[in-house]
Amino acid sequence: MDTCIFCKIARKEIPSAIVYEDAHAFAFLDISPVSEGHVIVIPKEHAEKIHQLSEQASNGLISAIKKVSKAAESAFKTGFNLLNNNGKEAGQAVFHVHFHIIPRRGLKDEFKYEWPSKKLEHQEQIVAELKKALAQT
Ligand code: AMP
Ligand code: ZN
Repeated sequence: MDTCIFCKIARKEIPSAIVYEDAHAFAFLDISPVSEGHVIVIPKEHAEKIHQLSEQASNGLISAIKKVSKAAESAFKTGFNLLNNNGKEAGQAVFHVHFHIIPRRGLKDEFKYEWPSKKLEHQEQIVAELKKALAQT
């Protein structure tokens, strides 16, 4: 896509700190990392959200994520979070599918990742809504 910044990065029209590239995927350092070693992995195919990708592109993307996250774990000798924002409500700022690989240095490191667990409520209604939507796909 002509105006998409991540398509431009994948075509090397915009410079990036390239970590990995193959036929379907591209990985580079996040320009504003939330932890040292923060990498972004993208498919070369343009789509805004994960479920809009072709099977070939999503399979290639998952393979690249596995490869780069294994390398990150080995290089930095620590665990990592894998994060994929879909839609502005979820914090997506660049509307080309991407996964963040965020190396962690403990649960109290600089990446303030919260998990505000609550009691499960309305489960029958939620399951019914999801099943109805799944039946329409
Ligand atoms: P998200 O909020 O999931 O859409 O994240 C977009 C990410 O892209 C942010 O973490 C940005 O720092 C990163 N980003 C934006 N422009 C660039 C760029 N030119 N090179 C590397 N990372 C970028
Ligand atoms: Zn794009």
